[in-house]
Amino acid sequence: MVEVDADSLEKMLAPARVGMNLEPIRLCAACYADSPCHKIEWQFKATKGCDRHKLHLLSECPNCGGRFKIPALWIDGHCQRCFMRFTEMVNYQKFVEV
Ligand SMILES: [Zn+2]
Ligand SMILES: [Zn+2]
Repeated sequence: MVEVDADSLEKMLAPARVGMNLEPIRLCAACYADSPCHKIEWQFKATKGCDRHKLHLLSECPNCGGRFKIPALWIDGHCQRCFMRFTEMVNYQKFVEV
């Protein structure tokens, strides 16, 4: 654990707060199926959906309504409440109307 003083932590987080929502954590299950990791652009306020798949992002589990854990804890790749796999959630994502 590296210690960061409060001041430099503030500087690191300040620009991130402007254009990003840290909550809720959002997910494109189709992207996750391609590469199992969180993408930072899912948290940008300007992001309405996934550009690659033209799908709305999920901000909660479509099966149980549980919020997603922080991406650092996405080790198992499933909902921590109902254990639905992230890759299955693609079936619940609605297409973005173009
Ligand atoms: Zn996607
Ligand atoms: Zn769930």
